[in-house]
Amino acid sequence: MKNAKIETKCVQGGYRPKNGEPREVPIYQSTTFKYDTSEDMGKLFDLEASGYFYTRLQNPTNDLVAAKICELEGGTAAMLTSSGQAASFFAVFNICSCGDHVVSSSSIYGGTYNLFAVTMKRMGIDFTFVAPDCTEEELAAAFRPNTKAVFGETIANPALTVLDIEKFARAAHAHGVPLIVDNTFATPVNCRPFEWGADIVTHSTTKYMDGHGAAVGGCIVDSGRFDWMAHAEKFPGLCTPDESYHGIVYAERFGKEGAFITKATAQLMRDFGSIQAPQNAFILNLGLESLHVRMRRHCENALAVASYLQREDRVSWVTYPSLPGDRYYETAQKYLPGGSCGVVSFGIKGGRKAAENFMKHLKIASIATHVADARTCCLHPASATHRQMNDAELAAAGVSPDLIRFSCGLENSEDLIADIKQALDAAFAE
Ligand SMILES: *Cc1c(COP(=O)(O)O)cnc(C)c1O
Repeated sequence: MKNAKIETKCVQGGYRPKNGEPREVPIYQSTTFKYDTSEDMGKLFDLEASGYFYTRLQNPTNDLVAAKICELEGGTAAMLTSSGQAASFFAVFNICSCGDHVVSSSSIYGGTYNLFAVTMKRMGIDFTFVAPDCTEEELAAAFRPNTKAVFGETIANPALTVLDIEKFARAAHAHGVPLIVDNTFATPVNCRPFEWGADIVTHSTTKYMDGHGAAVGGCIVDSGRFDWMAHAEKFPGLCTPDESYHGIVYAERFGKEGAFITKATAQLMRDFGSIQAPQNAFILNLGLESLHVRMRRHCENALAVASYLQREDRVSWVTYPSLPGDRYYETAQKYLPGGSCGVVSFGIKGGRKAAENFMKHLKIASIATHVADARTCCLHPASATHRQMNDAELAAAGVSPDLIRFSCGLENSEDLIADIKQALDAAFAE
């Protein structure tokens, strides 16, 4: 499957049934796994053998689906988490602890911003936020001796800035730390950050991967390329003995390819228990089977809607990375030549008030705190997901007070455009 095209991996990656086995990924709906001897189980506890003993740490259904996402991203190891938030937290906390520091793009998902700037800060981890368009010098200036990672989003939700992955990877590697990229909006169908130098990829699988608004979930994938041992003094958690596992050294025992995910599973999943339900992993896999087909349609619809909005007089601005003339068009053409995502951002004349007014007249698009599923939905972040931010923080996150996030589903694009048009008519007639 390694050399297969992305479409084939979406359908058949991860799980390859043997003779007489179920064609579809089985749901291992079991908290526990049975062993003949205590010795057999002891080997699992000591990480000397691989296998399952308790679903709080690992479950076969989850691992089969994680293996598919691993193949899609071109990584060496992956794990599912209960949510995208858990994936972002684990990815960073796996290599950072109290007293450490992370450089992050300021243009990230509101929930991630809150996790970093408020909750993880309370745990003693400091973040410096840099504009995604900062110069190499500005980026370099954000690093400190205790910096352990760099973080960014391929396509930021909801600002729709496109990360210059190579620039961020260069800076991270020059300082001996990995680049973590949240690839939720692009999905591996449209961009594979490892091909541009990223080391770890995270996903909210709640979005396009599931694609039907059915199951919350997350995923972490390791490229297997970051050499932890070459920077051992920075990453004691991976490069010195773990007393809770009889002194094993993850980077020695599991190498570059497996250390990161093994540690995140053995320590963080054990202690925080943010496991994805096997039932949800099964639903996620159904979504993955059509991801390549759906992404194409999401992107076609979004381009049609963005092109219409660009011509519409009552719209003051529109942002869509694949729209010619967009601020990120060139960057998107480089990193996302086959399409970006289904989400378009725009503002209508009259600002914040007009935005709320317009949205209530939409009939096909519904107001939902969600993006990236089969049904078109929209949101006004300044009064919802980003409401805890002040105007300066909103501006840094690339979210203006009038921004409407419009997530194009899989409907007919002419119907979507007609819906927007009639809502504008109704709002402006009031
Ligand atoms: C939704 C989202 C998250 C958080 O994911 P949940 O599954 O809602 O926890 C993280 N990053 C991005 C880019 C998102 O869109």
